[in-house]
Amino acid sequence: MDATEQSLRQSLSEKSSSVEAQGNAVRALKASRAAKPEIDAAIELLNKLKLEKSAVEKELQSTISGSGNGSLDREAFRKAVVNTLERRLFYIPSFKIYSGVAGLFYYGPPGCAVKSNVLSFWRQHFVLEENMLEVDCTCVTPEVVLKASGHVDKFTDLMVNDEKTGTCYRADHLLKDYCTEKLEKDLTISAEKAAELKDVLAVMEDFSAEQLGAKIKEYGITAPDTKNPLSDPYPFNLMFKTSIGPSGLTPGYMRPETAQGIFVNFKELYYYNGKKLPFAAAQIGQAFRNEISPRQGLLRVREFTLAEIEHFVDPENKSHPKFSDVAKLEFLMFPREEQMSGQSAKKLCLGEAVAKGTVNNETLGYFIGRVYLFLTRLSIDKERLRFRQHLANEMAHYAADCWDAEIESSYGWIECVGIADRSAYDLLAHSEKSNTPLVAEEKFAEAKEVEKVKITPVKKELGLAFKGNQKNVVEALEAMNEQEAMEMKATLESKGEVDFKVCTLGKDVNIKKNMVSISKEMTKVHQRVFTPSVIEPSFGIGRIIYCLYEHCFSTRPSKAGDEQLNVFRFPPLVAPIKCTVFPLIQKQQFEEAAKVISKELASVGISHKIDITGTSIGKRYARTDELGVPFAITVDSDTSVTIRERDSKDQVCVTLKEAASVERKLPMSLLTHNKKQSRVHLLDMEPFQDAFGRKTKRKRPKLVASDYEALVKKAAESQDAYEEKNGVGPSGEGGEEEDGFRDLVRHTMFEKGQSKRIWGERYKVIDSSDVVVQVLDARDPQGTRCHHLEKTLKEHHKHKHMILLLNKVSCFHLLETS
Ligand code: AMP
Repeated sequence: MDATEQSLRQSLSEKSSSVEAQGNAVRALKASRAAKPEIDAAIELLNKLKLEKSAVEKELQSTISGSGNGSLDREAFRKAVVNTLERRLFYIPSFKIYSGVAGLFYYGPPGCAVKSNVLSFWRQHFVLEENMLEVDCTCVTPEVVLKASGHVDKFTDLMVNDEKTGTCYRADHLLKDYCTEKLEKDLTISAEKAAELKDVLAVMEDFSAEQLGAKIKEYGITAPDTKNPLSDPYPFNLMFKTSIGPSGLTPGYMRPETAQGIFVNFKELYYYNGKKLPFAAAQIGQAFRNEISPRQGLLRVREFTLAEIEHFVDPENKSHPKFSDVAKLEFLMFPREEQMSGQSAKKLCLGEAVAKGTVNNETLGYFIGRVYLFLTRLSIDKERLRFRQHLANEMAHYAADCWDAEIESSYGWIECVGIADRSAYDLLAHSEKSNTPLVAEEKFAEAKEVEKVKITPVKKELGLAFKGNQKNVVEALEAMNEQEAMEMKATLESKGEVDFKVCTLGKDVNIKKNMVSISKEMTKVHQRVFTPSVIEPSFGIGRIIYCLYEHCFSTRPSKAGDEQLNVFRFPPLVAPIKCTVFPLIQKQQFEEAAKVISKELASVGISHKIDITGTSIGKRYARTDELGVPFAITVDSDTSVTIRERDSKDQVCVTLKEAASVERKLPMSLLTHNKKQSRVHLLDMEPFQDAFGRKTKRKRPKLVASDYEALVKKAAESQDAYEEKNGVGPSGEGGEEEDGFRDLVRHTMFEKGQSKRIWGERYKVIDSSDVVVQVLDARDPQGTRCHHLEKTLKEHHKHKHMILLLNKVSCFHLLETS
């Protein structure tokens, strides 16, 4: 427990005792009819002590609730966020006209846009940058798959019932609520009790059903609605059951996670990847969990979007080639030991955490780092993001290590991404159930000598003993693994016989020593066959989005100072609408100009809102601030517009001609230019000053011509000057004039080794082959096409083929989906 809190609790309990003792003293004096001055002095002391107690109480209360979000306390803050989200249709409670269904929500227009932006960035940050294989599997899943994965038997939460009404509650939530409420609201509990409750909160994820039941009884926790006693905790399976097809004979479930779709396709994906490890598959899709008591709004729902990665790796080599890219990152980590000893999360260097073994291996560490970068680039507050390691019992028995990315919100610390090293469990489970080996191979450069178990069934003896069943017994003997075979050999040697289960016969058979020979032999092997381990980062997209809403939310006073206005300070990457366009006053030319700019923005895929309603500027800003729009373009004269950036409130004035220019300088440079980052993230936030510089220092483009005609004239002049200087005539280099263009490069263009600059880009002929690759920039494919090259090809090298290759597609990707 925090030292201040502990000493305040201690001091409060002492002050309470003093007040009680002094109260008794006053009562005793009054009973003994003591002299008035004596009683008055005692009362004065009592009042002084009461004041001191109340001061400590206040201090303790503020220490417990923390400074949080300014003057708003957590609940008021959440109310303001949720109210804005619902009013502006970021989300809508589902089936509202039928009184709704708990745990189901819809996303409205801005919510859809935010989700699509987050998913686009996820695809770029993981699928594209890590070369993952994306798949899209079905939600309806046959029972056999989820039986193999363990979900049918173990995908449960512990539930308790109100013993009189039968109402269901999640057992751990009741215990958590009890401890939190006591700690936050009951100032009378001793420092020792407070420490105990904090300890329970820290380790309760580790509790078994029995431990949880015992604590519920010990604390006298009852049903929250009725105060009736509760049943013992028991497991409740969270999957939605269904049946596939009209007969109802094929049971199935709505998938509780997307991962199984990847595991069952491992073989196909491994082959698709050229039988190379490591590789990762990724999937975005809906998951369904019949939560016992959904609460916390968007955080615990019954249908939600998961984005999952299954990274398959050799269990003997979990190093990661790009680990050095993230090794220097430092952020809040909360290892198991710190949790168990009641400490808090600490800033650790990821590289050191892996080197010391706090994080099990490099690949797991690499993904922790990448998740950190993903979340903080979305603008999750670094100080309210921590990576918490699972406690021993919290983690599945097969897992090597697990960390949750937890984000602090008004609901407390929320698990938003789980990052687990699940070892080979999933692939082994499906291999066994489906009888399909889900394995990888490592080919050796040279064959290796290894000791192997050789099982030789003696078919003649087996035939005599088992007649028609001989084949089944032979197959079962041959299918034994090394350990089973050596155990059988030992029993046969000591007892002469052994009972052996033959699954295909559904019974045990008696094997005698003369029916099988088992030995170890040295053999040459050319490859190693193994089941890969899987590292799984699993992202709850709805939770991340809700936390983003809270981290980006703030209020500002209105100009008149009479009300608080809501602002979502979304970075452009996340913002549902990037820009608003509106005329300053209602005037036809202004409206026309706004429409032209709107068309321009639409043509380059920038989401925007045009507002020609004529409402006051202040109100329009307030409206757009509630939607988190980062830029506003105001048409404020017939010839110019003002662009304003929400957070810095910086403004820049540009001419309408520039705003609507073919090069789209206005919106593109404002929204997409990011010179600081070499790996350009098109819509990343960039401070306004960096894009434009201070007004005094603003760079002006060096224009050689004011319009197109002047440019042509200038070009002709410089061409003439060049020819004069170099003594080249109009047909000097073999160039002939055709449609006013000089075909200067025609003869040398395709010679091997030839290297030229065309429109500032370097072209090199690597080989004089018949295939020409023209690389275009995806952000402006038409603009970067070299028509001169194409014309030459068409007219003089008809036998050659041209392939157009789109470069920078990843940049285009974000714009397109924003
Ligand atoms: P799990 O497979 O339980 O580790 O869940 C993976 C991720 O899904 C978690 O990190 C959460 O972000 C998210 N998640 C799990 N359950 C829910 C739920 N009921 N509602 C919304 N998100 C959830």
